[in-house]
Amino acid sequence: MITIKSAREVEVMAAAGRILTDTLVLIESHTRPGVTTEDLDRLAEDFILGHPGALPSFKGLYDFPKSLCTSINDEIVHGIPSKSRELQDGDIVSVDCGVCLEGLHADSARTIPVGEISADVERLLSVTREALDAGITAAVIGNHTGDIGHAVQQIAEAAGYTVVRELVGHGIGTRFHEEPQIPNFGTPGRGHSLTEGMTLAIEPMVNAGKRDIRTLKDKWTVVTADGSLSAHFEHTVHVHPDGPRILTAGPATTAAE
Ligand code: MG
Ligand code: MG
Repeated sequence: MITIKSAREVEVMAAAGRILTDTLVLIESHTRPGVTTEDLDRLAEDFILGHPGALPSFKGLYDFPKSLCTSINDEIVHGIPSKSRELQDGDIVSVDCGVCLEGLHADSARTIPVGEISADVERLLSVTREALDAGITAAVIGNHTGDIGHAVQQIAEAAGYTVVRELVGHGIGTRFHEEPQIPNFGTPGRGHSLTEGMTLAIEPMVNAGKRDIRTLKDKWTVVTADGSLSAHFEHTVHVHPDGPRILTAGPATTAAE
């Protein structure tokens, strides 16, 4: 079911989004060679719980054990933070997080460089940010989910990259994953129509190589089948007559402002 949010509900989600953005800014400032993904998870969880009423959305969601998903290099999404995963110079790490406030969720992700990364890798990140930006721009009343997917796909494929098809963006609200699904590919005018009060998590996953994926034995971590790098950026967006409003934007947000 697609849920339409009241103005009050959207403001609660925006408040959750501000805590979430601050969390990701904090994580970005601590991301450097030698830090473990467990260190980042602990920082994020403590920071979120330091805000009265706020909870990390991921912890316990479908029995996921942590507050962040940390996905390094060829890992696309759903990497589990671990004290045995130490970040190395030149890595990229997708940090995905959710915050719940008064029963309403916000969802955001960014892919963070560790130390110095090559120009090729920097290009993958900037194209993926651009794809998110284009997807958000298409999130207007009267458009369809296919317009968002098409916009994302065009940017990624024009740059020579591929989009992951098995994993999608989603509606978000009192449940973390709501309808409609928002694929990162599509045909303009197809899919669900976008109406006022919808809140959507738009999240391109862009691979430097082929689009195929596989899931590791931990049953969570999704990786590129060919071992190529993958980037992931995500914002929660409110569909509004004045245009899309990003609920997870903030001063240090690197995408789509
Ligand atoms: Mg997310
Ligand atoms: Mg999401």
